Amino acid sequence: MSEKRKITVAHGDGIGPEIMKATLTILEAAGAAIEPEVIEIGEQVYHRGVSSGIEPSSWDSLRSTQVFLKAPITTPQGGGFKSLNVTTRKTLGLYANVRPCRSYSPFVATRHDTIDMVIVRENEEDLYAGIEHQQTEEVVQCLKLVSRPGCEKIVRYAFEYAEAYNRKKVTCFTKDNIMKLTDGLFHRVFDEIGEEYPDIEKEHMIIDIGSAILADKPETLDVVVTLNLYGDIISDIAAQIAGSVGLGGSANIGESCAMFEAIHGSAPTIAGKDVANPSGLINAAIMMLVHIGQPEVATHINNAWLYTLESGVHTADIYRIGSSKSLVGTQAFAEEIVKNLGKTPKRLQPAEYHAVQGKKLHYSTPPDPNRQKDLVGVDVFIDWNESNRNPKVIGDGLAAISGDDFTLRVITNRGVKVYPDGLPETFCTDHWRCRFVAEEGKTVSHQQIIGLLNRLDENNFDFIKTEQLYNINGQRAYSLAQGQ
Ligand code: NAD
Repeated sequence: MSEKRKITVAHGDGIGPEIMKATLTILEAAGAAIEPEVIEIGEQVYHRGVSSGIEPSSWDSLRSTQVFLKAPITTPQGGGFKSLNVTTRKTLGLYANVRPCRSYSPFVATRHDTIDMVIVRENEEDLYAGIEHQQTEEVVQCLKLVSRPGCEKIVRYAFEYAEAYNRKKVTCFTKDNIMKLTDGLFHRVFDEIGEEYPDIEKEHMIIDIGSAILADKPETLDVVVTLNLYGDIISDIAAQIAGSVGLGGSANIGESCAMFEAIHGSAPTIAGKDVANPSGLINAAIMMLVHIGQPEVATHINNAWLYTLESGVHTADIYRIGSSKSLVGTQAFAEEIVKNLGKTPKRLQPAEYHAVQGKKLHYSTPPDPNRQKDLVGVDVFIDWNESNRNPKVIGDGLAAISGDDFTLRVITNRGVKVYPDGLPETFCTDHWRCRFVAEEGKTVSHQQIIGLLNRLDENNFDFIKTEQLYNINGQRAYSLAQGQ
């Protein structure tokens, strides 16, 4: 037997301990060469006053084993507790969330018989940076941050995954018809990196029609790569329409560490009753085995699990009178899989995993030393709630003090142009984005912007934020206002 690989294991909350016990029973019976190192996470830790749900000492185990098999935990409501998942992903740099999604028809009821897709979701950026501010009485904001290295890593991961797992197509979902800079960057990087993979078919869809197709014709999708928020939503839709929320596993992959877990939560209402389906965690463990270089054991367990599904031995969540043969609890289901080790499914496609080279994924674009960055203006955001919010009043007031350095080009309210020449129908909040620009072909300095802000301050304009306007290599690097 090969040397045992240390892994970090957490038993979690709710149904966590039961499904972890079932999973470890199967791993051991199948001959997985692993040595679990147990850490405590979740409710107990939160209630000891650790707001992250994980003791600082547990990071040592995670950083040394670099592989985490995690049962679901219960996140206490309110009270400043932070999501352990988000903390773990960010702390360990787990940039790729990988969720295979399959239907197991006719053995598990599903809306679509032939789903077999993998969603590769960016895991660190986008709206999940958690940078939110209340700016005025009426308006709050959340920053959507997307970086080129972040896009390159996830897109390259998706193509590498497609190659390694013999997938034929990668589909990219964005909303770049609206978010031309952020989602536009993701799409552009997808097109650039896609060229390095000529044998893989590529397509791009706007996320709304993409989601509709995912719900209606999921069999047409293979690997899907997308940004964090879209990926979060569509991976639950995909799991739900496959009929398998209790069956899905997921991997969170980083450059050095990886975390494997079921996609469902701790299901507290059925905890301790030996009725939970352990399949989600079993599937996560199968992904872990491939990741740590034990593809034969992964194949062995996957086929025994598929055989068990086919044989009609089912837990309550997938049991159907007429088509299932016997209703079993969590541990009995695991024992049935152990009994079936060595068997292969007859109707479902048998699994066959191969060693996957742990490639270090590079960022293809080095910083450009000749990059020309010109400061050509500034958007000043102002909290203003006077004169019945008449845009002409704030606009004329600001134009009068914009000085020789700047022209007040446009004012928008929630992105819509209201000055000059707005429409009276446009609803205005107390949040005004005022765009001051330098003369055509000229740049401005930080000092000139500070001078402008001083004038605004002297005239009692309550500016709440500024956003510089740059041209990069001569190209406008900011969006135009709607109606500008
Ligand atoms: P949930 O996934 O725990 O449960 C949703 C529904 O699915 C429930 O009806 C539940 O009984 C059922 N279910 C879930 N897993 C099942 C299984 N293995 N077998 C049979 N039925 C199963 O989602 P929830 O109720 O929204 O959340 C419960 C708790 O889990 C919350 O505290 C939430 O914060 C936490 N949560 C944790 C994770 C995680 O640790 N990764 C993920 C999601 C939710």
